Amino acid sequence: RAARQEAFDTQALQRLDSAHFLHPFTDHAALRKRGARVMVRGQGIYLWDSEGNRVIDGMSGLWCVNAGYGRTSISQAVYQQMETLPFYNSFFNTTTVPAVRLATLLAELAPPQFEHVFFTSSGSEANDTIVRMVRRYWDLMGQPQRQVIISRRNAYHGSTMAGASLGGMDGMHAQGGLPIPGIVHIGQPHYAQEGQGMTEAEFGLHAAGWLEQKILELGPDQVAAFIGEPVQGAGGVIIPPVTYWPEIKRICDKYDILLVSDEVICGFGRLGTWFGCELMQVQPDLITFAKGVTSGYVPLGGVLVGSRVAQTLIEKGGDFNHGFTYSGHPVACAAALENLRILIEEKLVEKVALETGPHLAATFAGLASHPLVGHAESCGLVAGLNLVRRKGDTVHDCEHFDSAHAVGMICRGHMFDNGVIMRAVGDRMIVAPPLVITKEQIDEMAERIRFCLDQTL
Ligand code: PLP
Repeated sequence: RAARQEAFDTQALQRLDSAHFLHPFTDHAALRKRGARVMVRGQGIYLWDSEGNRVIDGMSGLWCVNAGYGRTSISQAVYQQMETLPFYNSFFNTTTVPAVRLATLLAELAPPQFEHVFFTSSGSEANDTIVRMVRRYWDLMGQPQRQVIISRRNAYHGSTMAGASLGGMDGMHAQGGLPIPGIVHIGQPHYAQEGQGMTEAEFGLHAAGWLEQKILELGPDQVAAFIGEPVQGAGGVIIPPVTYWPEIKRICDKYDILLVSDEVICGFGRLGTWFGCELMQVQPDLITFAKGVTSGYVPLGGVLVGSRVAQTLIEKGGDFNHGFTYSGHPVACAAALENLRILIEEKLVEKVALETGPHLAATFAGLASHPLVGHAESCGLVAGLNLVRRKGDTVHDCEHFDSAHAVGMICRGHMFDNGVIMRAVGDRMIVAPPLVITKEQIDEMAERIRFCLDQTL
């Protein structure tokens, strides 16, 4: 309410922002010219900036505000926990009530055989944790040479040294001496880009085969784990063929390699299941999560540890010399408990599966008729449109049409001015709206997207 009444001096804020705030993943010289957009308030799926403009947040903040903005019950839970016990650690034989309750609830929501959770404050820390955890596991199993973790190009697993190394983003690897040793990458299951001459089902098996080739090249007894996002998010909403994940699981089992599902985006309902691996019908050994667990209200992440790894760590491991001051932060856990209560009570995961996910798919399929759109893809509440120069062009024909430039222009400029936040990734325009979005609001979002595409023709 205070924000609603306050008048903001946008230019002064932008000047101070430019003078003092180094933003993540930002070209500051360019930002200085443009000035940062100052966001001041949110309610449901809508955000307001300091100029009073209202936009649909088609990206749920950064793929995280699953329960939508303005949930007073989450802020009350946070306030109460802050009043009662703002902090205590979970090192040295202590625990806190919200951390115990959240660990218990997560074990109930997770797929079978996930009875334990290790808390972090972010997805990057969760993925850092699995690097140490899987190597520790193989040490304890008497196979310390199993060090290598296989990941995929164009994956995003975070921004810490290990997270960015696990990720497969060329731009990140080009800076700061990445990747760290012991992490290697294979191709991504991107049918539109790599699947020529194959059916989707054939391509899924083919792309999973790259894992087996890499394992054989490295020597199976050197490989500790494979990590992947069920649907690659920041890489551009790359939805694998249905044959891909079961084949990945078969290969991991064949060579006794741990499977890690990075559910930082896909977890907590984004794909219409509690965890993306359930939709892909595979049982991983470890699940990393963050974002949607608190709907981003307070930072929290973690690793769900399946019985195979948990039993070994617990029975044989002694001290696991790893952890963070804020592992199991009571305020973050209190926010997560209330957020998950909302997702359960409002049946938001089921709503994505049965109602809003199918509606988003149908709406985006409609947008695919637009002359600038090559094709549309969606899964639950993530969707992407790829832009082409001419109808019928494939991604390979687009070299001279700078679709990435067009996408950037539309998403960073026109779309916001016309009331929707979308994300630009290469030649794709992406949405991942809050799970509370209604069918009517999806229609409203699609109308605005079509209007912006028309303006770009
Ligand atoms: N893993 C995936 C799949 C992500 O999308 C992200 C962030 O976008 C991360 C990990 C890193 O999470 P965080 O930014 O919380 O460190």
